[in-house]
Amino acid sequence: MVASGASRLAAQSAPPTLLVQITVDQLVPGYFDRFAPQLTGGLKRFATQGAFFTNAQHDHATTETAPGHATLWSGRTPAHHGIVLNEIGVADAQAPLLFGRGGGASPWRFRGTALFDWIRTREPFSRALSVSRKDRGAILPLGKAKQQVFWYSLDGRFTTSRYYADTLPAWVQRFNARNPVTPYLGARWELLLPESAYPEPDSVPIESEGKRFTFPHELEQDPRTGSYNFTEFPWMDDLTVDFALDGVQALDLGKGPTLDVLAVSLSTTDAIGHRYGPDSRELHDQILRVDRALGRLIDSLYRLRDSTRIVFALSADHGVAPFPELKFPGTDPDRGRVDYRPILDAARSGLVARGVEGDALTIQSSIVFLDRRRLAAKGVPADSVITSLRTKLLALPGMLRVDRVPTLAAQAARGDVIARRWVHALPADFDAVLTITYQPYHYQFTTRYATHGTPHDYDARVPILFLGAPFRPGRYAKPARTVDIAPTLAHVLGVRPLEAVDGRILIEALRAP
Ligand SMILES: [Zn+2]
Repeated sequence: MVASGASRLAAQSAPPTLLVQITVDQLVPGYFDRFAPQLTGGLKRFATQGAFFTNAQHDHATTETAPGHATLWSGRTPAHHGIVLNEIGVADAQAPLLFGRGGGASPWRFRGTALFDWIRTREPFSRALSVSRKDRGAILPLGKAKQQVFWYSLDGRFTTSRYYADTLPAWVQRFNARNPVTPYLGARWELLLPESAYPEPDSVPIESEGKRFTFPHELEQDPRTGSYNFTEFPWMDDLTVDFALDGVQALDLGKGPTLDVLAVSLSTTDAIGHRYGPDSRELHDQILRVDRALGRLIDSLYRLRDSTRIVFALSADHGVAPFPELKFPGTDPDRGRVDYRPILDAARSGLVARGVEGDALTIQSSIVFLDRRRLAAKGVPADSVITSLRTKLLALPGMLRVDRVPTLAAQAARGDVIARRWVHALPADFDAVLTITYQPYHYQFTTRYATHGTPHDYDARVPILFLGAPFRPGRYAKPARTVDIAPTLAHVLGVRPLEAVDGRILIEALRAP
């Protein structure tokens, strides 16, 4: 094969020494165009100088943070990596935090390998640093690897769990000792640009559960409350970037000759998207600010290291839906919400009456779990319980479908996208018996903030972007999936996945396929 000019150039250039895996929590692809004229930082650089897959999706139904992060950087669906929901994600009582508020956490439920394991198999001295506000956002991008993994402690510091270390390294201790949140206590979040730059109305009383829904937003002066609520302000992303850059320097990450990994997950877009909704002025301002924070991350890394030897990938763990109040006309405060609780309660009472504990039947984020063994032990036929429950759930207003798990694969094979996303969400050994899918833009009854988590496109669609020497800049409209990211990166980095992956190499974006 005769190499083209471009591929010869790529072949001659020195191999990458730093891979930067960026996750922006709840980043929707449409934001790139909606805010394009006002983007000046990292989002703009990715969109204009990178390879941008504009028609990309998470191809699993449980569009939550933990499964999203685990999928992005392992090339496998939740059915295979085992991280199905936040609720059954990284929580681990056997791995308590060194300090800080929050439960213990580890990747003990994560199955198999992630991109970093593949890199380290070739380069045993490769090191990784992973940073996020959230435990799951820091842990899952590296799979089970015991590397430098830190997240926000909710008390003004960064922490980790005993899965990773018994003490903090000196550079983290120094960072924490500077009390980095203190300068923000009592500060006001004001608009970055003049008010005329924001077409969204500011005063929308359904935002923030009806409290403090207009600019400016003030962070509490009290250190305890202020450090906790800091996560709801754009400065949380700035602090995460500060911490990541500190770590890169302290660890000499990316200096070569080995290939190191920096994983950064920025969580504030999710916090603000939940609190104020994707149509809010607050979300608009947050996107401008995360764009600037990412710009600073990229510019700083380019100053610290050889820019030709850094490869970046950016994506999101899930999308988001607007508030039902904004989607459906009327004045009913419960419109667009589905309440399955009376049906679940009645079904559990029925089990109790037949001698089975009620918690043999649970619903977690639209998945119905049933412990068939406990029913069998009391002679209760599981199938009739499932059939009766399904019939009642299907009758609820706002319900789109309730599927029996064993039927999903055949439906998926006939081209049913929602069934396919459910198949990709559920490991074969889980006790899941039914999957619940609401009509588009419907929420669970109790949810009063804006949210995500369904198999619908608005939750599943995310941007995928690559930046660096191996990639041909441009917009790619060909469909891509988040499981494609890790195999694509592995290919350009010259490493091989250690197991079967669910994605493909996005060769259309490569300079030298
Ligand atoms: Zn979220």
